[in-house]
Amino acid sequence: KSHLEAKIKERQIKLSDNKERQEELKQYISKTESDLKEINDILMKEETLRRSLHNELQELRGNIRVFCRIRPPLPKIEDPDTSHIKVDRFDDDNGIQTMEVIKSNSYGTGNGNSIKPQQFKFDKIFDIGEPNTEVFKEVGQLVQSSLDGYNVCIFAYGQTGSGKTFTMLNPGDGIIPSTISHIFSWIKNLKERGWEYKIECQFVEIYNENIVDLLRNSNGENNSTGNGKCEVRHDHENETTTITNVTTCQLDSKETVGKILQRATKLRSTASTESNEH
Ligand code: ADP
Ligand code: MG
Repeated sequence: KSHLEAKIKERQIKLSDNKERQEELKQYISKTESDLKEINDILMKEETLRRSLHNELQELRGNIRVFCRIRPPLPKIEDPDTSHIKVDRFDDDNGIQTMEVIKSNSYGTGNGNSIKPQQFKFDKIFDIGEPNTEVFKEVGQLVQSSLDGYNVCIFAYGQTGSGKTFTMLNPGDGIIPSTISHIFSWIKNLKERGWEYKIECQFVEIYNENIVDLLRNSNGENNSTGNGKCEVRHDHENETTTITNVTTCQLDSKETVGKILQRATKLRSTASTESNEH
């Protein structure tokens, strides 16, 4: 009997030990939880600070920036112009870069033989050898701004064959695919910190002054009810700009994006071939 009593006593001690330990753990958990909350608050504050500093930096660098990209001469086409461009990697005090263009058939010098180079200044010049990744290093900062809640526009301008499509859409490293990769990895990052993002996309082409919806159903129909004409509308009250009757797609993964880009590119190339772009 005494043997049993001893055993019971032993169990009771163990039980109360366990209870104490449980209490300790509970306290530990609640402390960890409050620490975690504190850390999250700090992270949130840091993120807010990063956003405003990033935006300040972008504004200091200029709200409108003009870059120039020189593509390599194309081997098969008679393409003499590119080779007469010389980039001076000279930055003036404001970080402006200059390039010189020497025309082979010089004009305006008064002297038939001498060639007067013309100078052009840009915020940045991408020379022949620089790949799309180098361009994205620069414009990718604007993508970040858009994720921080600012409005951003990247506008590619140039004559046919100058490299707009290559720069914007080249699979893997073009501005658009790189932007999408950046957006999705950033979202993944911030989801873990309690942020929520919803991504929608529209894809239009302006062709002969008309806005063409590149995500419309291929049978020519439009998702919306109206007469289908796409027009730009400015809402001054809400400070928003929208395009009427344009299809909006939800993007939930990189994979959906690939499909949507393919769909858009298909309609786009058809449109340009039909209108005889060249
Ligand atoms: P655009 O869209 O302005 O009409 P493209 O992007 O179609 O011009 O470019 C014309 C051709 O030049 C394409 O064959 C493209 O692959 C090539 N090209 C353009 N930019 C570059 C570059 N930076 N490096 C190599 N090839 C290029
Ligand atoms: Mg093109």
